[in-house]
Amino acid sequence: MRNRAAKIIATLGPASATPQVIEALYTAGADVFRLNFSHGSHDDHRERIEIIRTLEKKAGRPIGILADLQGPKLRVGKFTEGRVRLNAGQSFRLDLSEELGDHQRAPLLHPEIFAAIGAGTELLLDDGRIRLRVEHHGLDFAETVVITGGELSNNKGLNIPNVVLPISPLTEKDRRDLDFALDMGVDWVALSFVQRPDDVAEARKLVGGRAMVLSKLEKPSAIDFLEEIVDLSDAVMVARGDLGVEVPPENVPILQKRIVRACRRAGKPVVVATQMLESMVHAAAPTRAEASDVATAIYDGADAVMLSAETAAGEYPIDAVTIMDRIIDRVEKDDLYHATMDAARGEPESTTRDAISAAARQVAHTLSAAAIVTFTSSGSTTLRAARERPDVRMLSLTSDLKVARQLSLVWGAHSSVTQEVNSFAQMVACAVLKAQTEGFAKPGERIVITAGVPFGTPGTTNILRVAWIEE
Ligand code: PGA
Ligand code: MN
Repeated sequence: MRNRAAKIIATLGPASATPQVIEALYTAGADVFRLNFSHGSHDDHRERIEIIRTLEKKAGRPIGILADLQGPKLRVGKFTEGRVRLNAGQSFRLDLSEELGDHQRAPLLHPEIFAAIGAGTELLLDDGRIRLRVEHHGLDFAETVVITGGELSNNKGLNIPNVVLPISPLTEKDRRDLDFALDMGVDWVALSFVQRPDDVAEARKLVGGRAMVLSKLEKPSAIDFLEEIVDLSDAVMVARGDLGVEVPPENVPILQKRIVRACRRAGKPVVVATQMLESMVHAAAPTRAEASDVATAIYDGADAVMLSAETAAGEYPIDAVTIMDRIIDRVEKDDLYHATMDAARGEPESTTRDAISAAARQVAHTLSAAAIVTFTSSGSTTLRAARERPDVRMLSLTSDLKVARQLSLVWGAHSSVTQEVNSFAQMVACAVLKAQTEGFAKPGERIVITAGVPFGTPGTTNILRVAWIEE
């Protein structure tokens, strides 16, 4: 039983591939596990999914699984020597030839790049460590000059900020990974390098409602369509790793705040990701700046914070989750946090569901109720209740295990699976019972219940009921 509202996503990898470590990560506070399809085979991912589902049974709590697709990540090819040294001022050619590269040229097997660039376009290699500027180009090559030099090794990533490439958001590999992930029953699918709203629409069609869709914002072009992308997505990630390559570092914190705000207003879950406790890849304790970074994301109102290399490949995966859990817990006990959440609360939209959700928060606060209990069939009632950022705990009841798992990423949502309720009396009895067995309320306390009639119809929240837990 967790007491905090914001959630922790832990990426699995070689450092966290055994049942023992995955269970320890869960116990330390991981609510959602992320499978990174940029690394590992389908067999690796299958094994981890099976470990998580076994753990879920043992723990008796729904656990979320997020399949993160690699997306159209651009890469330079290989070199005869495995690596080359590029010096500022020298010229360097990129082309479609598969021949291994040297210090004068390298393969770049992405024809769409040569079609989209122009003289003056900057190409960033290896997380922006090396910069090239295009001098001139044809349909199968680019002659560039090295602006910032360095060592370049095989298959390093390439970023082209401010150029929208005419490419599908899902590569052939992504489509195979997506089929596999959906077959395995993952709860969330993350899309990398989303460039435009159409990318999200196209991916949603392929997913076909079998999982929730999370858009990773890591391209400046996506920020230009922020509101539309948030609207089309089930959740959004501030993917600061690639975002920080594509925009100057001083812009990253500002974009983080803008994205979180847009999501909070829309009531879409938002994840802050990458390098949150980066030094813990090799150290048992975080830097003060890292502790402050995690805390800032929580004060901003993020639904979840994510660990990448810290848990996937680091030396201290469990310590990283433990510390993140402590930082979140500490912030959520601060009066300033509650004042900030109050001040940033968006107006309810003019719908019955939002009116009920806003009223539930107000009623629960006025009565010092022990909990808000939401009945949800699609998860949307719980999402709208979470959008209110109530200052009492929320218990989310659903008959759909998949929905319960999906909500594990959402601020404040403690999900539990129940049987379908068909009548008002049954609804109250179920909420009262669950509030006690899940440890949310004791005899003599009150709970605030929201639900929709007719029961079991998604999107019909129209009831608010206050119930006593009988002594
Ligand atoms: P990645 O995405 O870890 O898959 O690159 C997150 C980011 O870019 O921040
Ligand atoms: Mn990325």
